[in-house]
Amino acid sequence: MITANVFDIKRFSINDGDGIRTTIFLKGCPLACKWCQNPEGLIPEIRLWYAKNICVACKSCIASCETGALKWDERGVAIDHDACTRCGRCVVACPTGAIRFDAREMSIEEALQEIEKDRPFYGTDGGVTLSGGESMASPAFSLSILRACRERGTNAQIETSLYARPETVDAFAEVADRIIADIKLIDPARHFLATGVDNTLILSNIRHLAEKGTKLLIRVPLIPGFTDDEENIRGIAKFVASLGREIPVELLNFNPMCREKYESLRQRYEFDPDQREIEQERVDALKRILSDYGVIAL
Ligand code: SF4
Ligand code: SF4
Repeated sequence: MITANVFDIKRFSINDGDGIRTTIFLKGCPLACKWCQNPEGLIPEIRLWYAKNICVACKSCIASCETGALKWDERGVAIDHDACTRCGRCVVACPTGAIRFDAREMSIEEALQEIEKDRPFYGTDGGVTLSGGESMASPAFSLSILRACRERGTNAQIETSLYARPETVDAFAEVADRIIADIKLIDPARHFLATGVDNTLILSNIRHLAEKGTKLLIRVPLIPGFTDDEENIRGIAKFVASLGREIPVELLNFNPMCREKYESLRQRYEFDPDQREIEQERVDALKRILSDYGVIAL
């Protein structure tokens, strides 16, 4: 049976493609962006998740664990993921839901049932978006969902890094109504430092999709100190203008809401805790750079 580890299903989403959408977030990503909004989605496997803000410090979870995977320290419950067998005893013992698994293994049928619940709300332009993590990292599951949506007349799009083999990208282009792809940084060396991978494959996949006429939206996450400089936006504008097709580019402002996730994961948060969204005036100035190159800026 084909399954995928789904870490979230966002209903009535209006930011993940056209109209009102159901966005399904799949675990596993080949990139490791320093600003990832969904760091729980990077690792493909299901793991325990601890939410300190709803923990009442009863320590029932620690008492229930037979492998010694849980300890108490100054930051609350510390999880040794290597020692955890995912038996679920601590999840049952926790009175508040502060300890839970970070995803659920879902079959294609289960995912389609979830989609079916929302179908009455899609209207003429809404539908389903597969996201992540990386939607192309679970190709059998994702392609099956996209095909099923097409058979049912449901618009289906994907959000992807396009860091995938060209054959995989082609298979997705056949069945997705639109591909929403990121260009985070145009300079390969900067891209490697910030994401852990080179961007040559990503840019060549975008060019290939542009040439074959796939419906595309390019997104640029505006990350303070990483991607929001004029040089980067100008380089992206030049690249998109060179594709020879009208491909819109959306600038996505930094979202500071994920800071708590990094605390839960005990991972380094790269930003000042007070870092806020980039001012609209500056975003507009960056949009003007895109427009100067004839690129549609959203
Ligand atoms: S899932 Fe089981 S093994 Fe893992 S921490 Fe909880 S009780 Fe311990
Ligand atoms: S059982 Fe739940 S509320 Fe109690 S210490 Fe563990 S995580 Fe916190």
